[in-house]
Amino acid sequence: MVAGNLPVIGVLDLQGGTQEHLEHLGHISGCVAKPVKAPDELQALSGLILPGGESTCLSRLFKLFGLHEAIKREHSRGMKVWGTCAGAILIAREIIDEQPHLALMDIAVHRNAFGSQMDSFNLTANIPEVSGEPIPLTFIRAPKIVRVGPGVKILLRHEDFIAAAEDDRCLATAFHPELTSGLAFHRYFAHKCGVSSELHSDQIEGWTARSWMQVARA
Ligand code: GLN
Repeated sequence: MVAGNLPVIGVLDLQGGTQEHLEHLGHISGCVAKPVKAPDELQALSGLILPGGESTCLSRLFKLFGLHEAIKREHSRGMKVWGTCAGAILIAREIIDEQPHLALMDIAVHRNAFGSQMDSFNLTANIPEVSGEPIPLTFIRAPKIVRVGPGVKILLRHEDFIAAAEDDRCLATAFHPELTSGLAFHRYFAHKCGVSSELHSDQIEGWTARSWMQVARA
């Protein structure tokens, strides 16, 4: 689970926001971040991020790449899993009107519950467990988390939905911290994976709303 002495956090590299998560993890000291797409690459991981993208597409690719069972197996052995947006849908035990995918976490989600891509939005929220500073949040054709089971802690509730929740091994966020300047959620997940990391700031200096596009072009 460690490279040298450092825990390794993988980012699923099949479809969606892989580079943006890798870039954010690159600002967290005390861990190694790497893209993963093969089942045997999971064995070395302390944590795995399932990025946003499109959950039905990602689920089909899991099966093609032999990852479905491998992710379930490593999670049951202790690997931490963070699902952002489509990733949160993939780890949910229940999806309203659809079959679940990995079913790792006792939450129910409602896909595309805010409407179309045009109904995407930004928020800033205080989440004391995660950061002492307000956290910028970006929702893109996001799901709503509509129910959590007894072992699941709600980190952020907003209006009629739950936007972030966690249990011992999983973190689910309906939004995309990797598309903002904020590092708080990446640090929080890294801590969950056993990383000890001190950050001077929860923000990436010089990050602009177009920074993720620069990553995509590189
Ligand atoms: N709407 C997508 C889905 O249902 C999720 C969108 C996202 O990850 N930004 O899979």
